[in-house]
Amino acid sequence: MSAFHDLIVIGGGHNGLVTAAYAARAGLKVLVLERREVLGGACVTEEVWPGYKVSTAAYVNSLLRPEIIRDLELHRHGFEMLPRSPSSFTPFPDGRSLMLGPDKAMTRREISRFSVKDAEALPRYEAMLERVADFLEPTLIMTPPNPWSLRPGNLVQLLKLGLAFVKLGTDGQKAVEILTGAATPILDRWFESEQLKVTLATDAIIGAMASPSMPGTAYVLFHHVMGECNGVRGVWGYVRGGMGGISNAIAAAARERGVEIRTNSAVARILVKNGTAQGVALADGTEFRASRVASGVDANVTFLKLMGNGDLPGEFVDAVRHIDYASASCKINVALSELPDFTAVPGTAPGPQHRGTIHISPTMEYIERAYDDAKYGRPSEHPIIEATIPSVLDDTLAPPGRYVMSMFTQYFPYRLAPGLSLEQEKEKYADRCFALMNQFAPNFTRSVLARQILSPVDLEERFGLTGGNIMQGVMSLSSLSFMRPVPGYADYRTPVRGLYLCGAATHPGGGVMGACGYNAAREIVRDSRA
Ligand SMILES: Cc1cc2nc3c(=O)[nH]c(=O)nc-3n(C[C@H](O)[C@H](O)[C@H](O)COP(=O)(O)OP(=O)(O)OC[C@H]3O[C@@H](n4cnc5c(N)ncnc54)[C@H](O)[C@@H]3O)c2cc1C
Repeated sequence: MSAFHDLIVIGGGHNGLVTAAYAARAGLKVLVLERREVLGGACVTEEVWPGYKVSTAAYVNSLLRPEIIRDLELHRHGFEMLPRSPSSFTPFPDGRSLMLGPDKAMTRREISRFSVKDAEALPRYEAMLERVADFLEPTLIMTPPNPWSLRPGNLVQLLKLGLAFVKLGTDGQKAVEILTGAATPILDRWFESEQLKVTLATDAIIGAMASPSMPGTAYVLFHHVMGECNGVRGVWGYVRGGMGGISNAIAAAARERGVEIRTNSAVARILVKNGTAQGVALADGTEFRASRVASGVDANVTFLKLMGNGDLPGEFVDAVRHIDYASASCKINVALSELPDFTAVPGTAPGPQHRGTIHISPTMEYIERAYDDAKYGRPSEHPIIEATIPSVLDDTLAPPGRYVMSMFTQYFPYRLAPGLSLEQEKEKYADRCFALMNQFAPNFTRSVLARQILSPVDLEERFGLTGGNIMQGVMSLSSLSFMRPVPGYADYRTPVRGLYLCGAATHPGGGVMGACGYNAAREIVRDSRA
């Protein structure tokens, strides 16, 4: 048995590390136990091939909370954002293309080639989203109020939320639609050009087992515009050294505050006695004792795999069993000998077409059809690709003249139809993604030096994400705010005294925000002072 700690954090994902750093800052003695040999969870950089550093899961950042960057002095610990301009490039089958970005004049020119009306509408659409974001953003770093509790603190918080909603005026209706509705009707109302709509729509389905015409996708779309890059709202950027640059900076800040971090330390069991957490045990039997335990792992693994049957009330276990982990995202990481030579914007020297997210999904109907395959357990015949080549802006990732590309693709269902072999389907699906990219950049396939295919099953095995769900549980209204991870337990506490959740399974959910870990730390520190 090792020394006693005030807090043990299970999982060195970025949220677990944030909880550890803040708890240590408040004076707690903290130990982090991470199953893998590397820190960061889904926010990680790994040297997949010698000399090639890959953000194997998350690949762009915008959501990381500015409070955390400031409080933990992440810049001093090596965190650096690389803004992208333009931020996206969408080539189309007719040889045309659309670039969007923080440069408003460029964006206006680009959209005008398809629709002058849309070029004028986009700033108004963005302003509407910003007003809704102004209402929702402060809630990200709040513990959600419990609508089933009559405690005065709760009622005050609910009242404050209600007043903020009233202040939204007629935008309130838009906020409700964003929280509950489908992306397609919103995009249809604002825009007429298919090219703009389809470029924006891919953000509505990231990580979701859904097509943009399905309710709930408007929030996914919105979730992706809520962050900032170096203070500029809605802008996504790369992180120098890959996404692990975030987790490593948080880990350095945590260590500086005295946190002990152990990798290769998979927790096998959370120790509970008389309804109170006592510590954890590793697979080899080593036990670590602590007054409190916080799990950054998803709810399914935490409660159903790491705990015994008798440790939790039956109805809570039932609620956890019903969490939706549906997923159809497949990450394909690629090493390239040269940059894609797009027919729409030719050239293999780094250019604007290579800097941002490259969207390959020609029409809204194309997306719907891609989803239709997945509904029946078949990987899309014609997949949707969001590709990024961070090494265009970051020379630390690949040998000179070589590149790493991240392909975030949809849809590859977690559960395949009977008779389909996972290994064969993965290879065939990746071949289809490459052939598709080749239609727009004919040198692509021959430039591929190596590839790593991470289907939802691989994401589950590698990162511990149930069902391969990239958000530790779907981000639909019935699983957000006071209902995340399950109704009645959104305050980071659990039915076991001294046991907390601190990862993306909690409010405000997935994405590299750090907000879950930040909020959980606040509640843990509050309890430890009570
Ligand atoms: C393919 C993919 C692409 C994504 N793209 C983006 C993106 O571009 N931008 C963005 O903002 N978000 C993206 N996301 C979402 C984002 O990465 C996650 O929501 C976020 O990283 C979750 O962080 P976390 O700390 O809550 O949990 P995790 O990162 O899931 O961390 C949990 C940690 O617990 C560890 N663990 C599991 N079991 C045990 C155990 N028994 N004992 C000890 N440790 C254990 C895991 O190894 C892991 O390190 C993506 C996710 C995926 C998978």
